[in-house]
Amino acid sequence: MTQADLYQKVAVVGAGTMGNGIAQVFASCGSDVMLVDLNADALDRGVAAIEKSLARVVKKERMTQADADATMARISKSTSLGDLTDRELVVEAVSERFEIKSSVFKTLDEVTPKDAILSTNTSSISITEIAAVTNRPDKVIGMHFMNPVPVMKLVEVIRGHETSDETTDSVMRASRALGKEPVEANDYPGFVSNRVLMPMINEAVFCLMEGVATREGIDTVMKLGMAHPMGPLALADLIGLDVCLDILEVLHKGLGDDKYRPCPLLRRMVAAGCLGRKSGKGFYDYGD
Ligand code: NAD
Repeated sequence: MTQADLYQKVAVVGAGTMGNGIAQVFASCGSDVMLVDLNADALDRGVAAIEKSLARVVKKERMTQADADATMARISKSTSLGDLTDRELVVEAVSERFEIKSSVFKTLDEVTPKDAILSTNTSSISITEIAAVTNRPDKVIGMHFMNPVPVMKLVEVIRGHETSDETTDSVMRASRALGKEPVEANDYPGFVSNRVLMPMINEAVFCLMEGVATREGIDTVMKLGMAHPMGPLALADLIGLDVCLDILEVLHKGLGDDKYRPCPLLRRMVAAGCLGRKSGKGFYDYGD
């Protein structure tokens, strides 16, 4: 892992929760990062979130103020994908909807250099289907960062059906240069992370629905018994119950096995707007 493995000119498309974290990590390691979002307010909020996050790192004395200033100076903003004509790597982190991602990838394929690698941070959409809307499916790959990106070490690197060895090696090396631990996976619904995590969360919701134990009981069993840092119900609240439901639907549809059927209680809570921390109420209450 060397600095040479890191791409010099990177774009992050989507300045939300994940996009701003990804931009921060690349810029902290020395890449010139263009952060793109259609929504100018979201772009400003994304840059403000990076500033705030770096201030915390400086306060913990893990970075000097000068390095934080240099990191911010490497980040530029744009509301147009048309500005990405000189990028070597793009990490797409827009909303989890195929129509939105496919339209972004069609444009990226037109505007970026022909040898640029186009990656997606999708949690569940098929890399192969995203790649198929471009004329460079060999250069399209999943780079699935975890939330919060600056803290979590894992990058799940997902190969689509046509992704080349060269693209995969390059992205694996760049992930290590970011200080992350990449793990290669193939393109099946949920990859590894959500294929293993979501059935566990779903089963915890079934346990709650059937009255096997209380919410605290279920979470405590998994924390103290299995050494999980967080119980599955608290984790579902953190991820968002709507996101969990969407991913379970992808697993159920894509793998065709009823073991992935979303628990009726999960469906009912999403229908009621109880989405977890972001709505103030999920399996637990979070006040305002
Ligand atoms: P988010 O809603 O916080 O941010 C999405 C951003 O994309 C918004 O700022 C929106 O304005 C922007 N956007 C939408 N359409 C756009 C377009 N056409 N061009 C440019 N910008 C556009 O979402 P997020 O939670 O950051 O998730 C982003 C991606 O990362 C999703 O694919 C999600 O599945 C994945 N992901 C999320 C998490 C998580 O914990 N939030 C974890 C891993 C992966």
